[in-house]
Order: sequence, then C-alpha cells, then structure tokens
Amino acid sequence: MYSGPALMALTELFAEILKAQEPLAPYTALQVGGRAQFFAEPRSEEELGQLIACCYEEKMPLRVLAAGTNVLIRDEGVGGVVCRLSAPAFQFVTIDGHRVRAGAAVSLTQLIAEVCRHCLAGLESLIGTPGTVGGALFCSLGSPGSTFMNGVDRIEFYDHQGQRCSVSRDDWDALLAEHLPPVVLAVEFMLEADDAESILRRLRRAWISRHGRQPFFFQRTARMFQEPRGLSLEQLFEQAGIRHYRAGNVAVSERDPNFVVVQPGATAREVLLFIEQLRHRVYEHTGHTLRLEPSVW
Ligand SMILES: Cc1cc2nc3c(=O)[nH]c(=O)nc-3n(C[C@H](O)[C@H](O)[C@H](O)COP(=O)(O)OP(=O)(O)OC[C@H]3O[C@@H](n4cnc5c(N)ncnc54)[C@H](O)[C@@H]3O)c2cc1C
Repeated sequence: MYSGPALMALTELFAEILKAQEPLAPYTALQVGGRAQFFAEPRSEEELGQLIACCYEEKMPLRVLAAGTNVLIRDEGVGGVVCRLSAPAFQFVTIDGHRVRAGAAVSLTQLIAEVCRHCLAGLESLIGTPGTVGGALFCSLGSPGSTFMNGVDRIEFYDHQGQRCSVSRDDWDALLAEHLPPVVLAVEFMLEADDAESILRRLRRAWISRHGRQPFFFQRTARMFQEPRGLSLEQLFEQAGIRHYRAGNVAVSERDPNFVVVQPGATAREVLLFIEQLRHRVYEHTGHTLRLEPSVW
C-alpha cells in the first residue's frame, strides 16, 4: 500500500471522486479478489487527465478497470489508484460516413449494434463478446490482424504523464512495447459499407454460434488462456485429461474449455492455483506452454 505526502495531494484534489478501500470483486466478472486502496470514477476527460498527472507526479500507480471481464484481482487487493471509466464522457459513439469514433467505455455490443444500424460491416462476428472498446485493445482481441484490430484506424489516449496523444493502428504495438500502458480514451474505426440484409445474416449466425458454445451469461466466468496458434485448446485439454477438471469452487466450463467457471465463495488464490494446475498438466502431457489471458492485479 502507498502512503506519505502523495496520499494527501491525491485525497485533497480528488475528494469528490475518490473512495478508499473499495471492494473490487463486484466490478469484475469473476467476482473474486480484494479492495483497491483508492478507487476513482472521473467525470470527464479533463478530470481523468488531471488524475493521471497527479498520480505520475506523486509516483502513485494507476490502473484502469473497464467491464472487468478480463482481470483477476488478488485477494490481497491493489495498492495505488484503480480508475473506472464509467461516466457518459467515455461512452459515446459517433458515425460520419465510414468513420466511427467510440469512447473507451462503450461496450462491444453497443458499438456493434450502432455500426450495423448504419450498414457498416466488419465487427459483426464479435457480437456477444463481453467487454468494452478500451478493454478489447489489451486482450487477444487487440492482437495485430484480429477482426477487431482490422477495423481500428486510430487510438486516442493519455500517456502515463497525462498528455493527450493519438497513434495509428500500425504504431499501437510499438507504443505498448516501449512505454508504460496508456489510458485509452477513444478508438476510431474505418469500416466498410454493406447491405443491411447481409449484415443481419452474419450477425444472426455469429450470435447463434457464440451462444451455443460460450458459458451462460449468469455464470462467473473468464477466458483463461490465449488461444495457442494453430492448436485446439480443447484437444490439448483432452490429451492432458483435464477437459472436465474441477477443484473446489472452480471448474473448466462444460461448454467451452477455455473458460473457468467460479462458484460463490471462491477466492482469487483458488482461481490462480486452478489455472496453474491446468497449465502444468498441459505442459506435462503435451509440451505446450499456455499463456494467461486475464491481467492479474
Ligand atoms: C464470455 C466471454 C467470451 C469471450 N469471447 C472472446 C472471444 O471470442 N475472443 C476473444 O479474443 N476474447 C474473448 N473474450 C475476452 C474478452 O475479449 C475480454 O474479456 C474483454 O475484451 C475485456 O474487456 P473489459 O472491458 O472487460 O476489460 P477489463 O477486463 O476491465 O480490462 C482488461 C485489461 O484492459 C485494460 N483496460 C481496459 N480499459 C482500458 C482503458 N480504457 N485504457 C487502458 N487500459 C484499459 C485493463 O487495465 C486490463 O489490463 C471473452 C470473454 C468472456 C468473459
């Protein structure tokens, strides 16, 4: 936990939006884990920029929480500031011809619904994927060449000092490799026009296929591993004898083996241990090292 003069500056300047010792589990899909030392929900871009600059000056770590579908919070909680972009200022979609600008906190579902209504195609296969536009950039969806990234044109963000910047899609990976993670404000997409009927047909197909295989919406669930290139995770799990593995409050989803399903009462420690056991078993039986999908805080 962080202490000292930095705390005074922070708590005085941001008294209206800062909560101390906020439980984070309710903000995440897995609903496990401890508290944030400080939790802030900035009301505007300007306020967010000031918060980032203050954290930078006071050497206070700052993390961004979006829909919480891809973070695993440790039971010990998180030191520094956890910032959630829940305000309307981060939840807009504007469309001008083929160009679409979406706030970082817009859900993928809302974005896809809006662009499809304007007969813009390219994102419909992602319908039903939980999470936000900002969160997608930091998960597998944000990998170069993915369906999501193919639609992206520019990314607007605050750097770790609170300077507003923007980069093209092609410069995004280099930026992530060389700098501290930025706080994404908005993403610009360039999408192709198509006829409404074709878009609707693809939307329906994607929706049905996704809902037939991914865990039920009422389950506490998260994707565990990045899809191993050219391999089927299901086959790796079958070979390792863990396709139906469960331990205590945690289990591999019966519907899709890449999801962990967590029962009420589970702890983050249990989930992390479970994931480690799966990785170990897969490595032992197949020689493949699986890479974790969620960010662990
Ligand atoms: C049921 C289910 C189905 C899924 N299906 C797929 C699939 O088919 N394909 C696939 O690739 N993925 C899939 N996923 C993973 C999904 O893409 C991610 O869970 C989602 O994109 C994360 O978005 P989020 O808003 O919840 O981000 P969070 O979980 O809140 O955050 C994830 C990471 O992004 C960072 N972050 C979030 N917003 C910002 C911001 N504005 N600025 C800076 N950093 C930020 C956070 O700090 C964190 O490190 C699935 C997940 C679930 C639960």
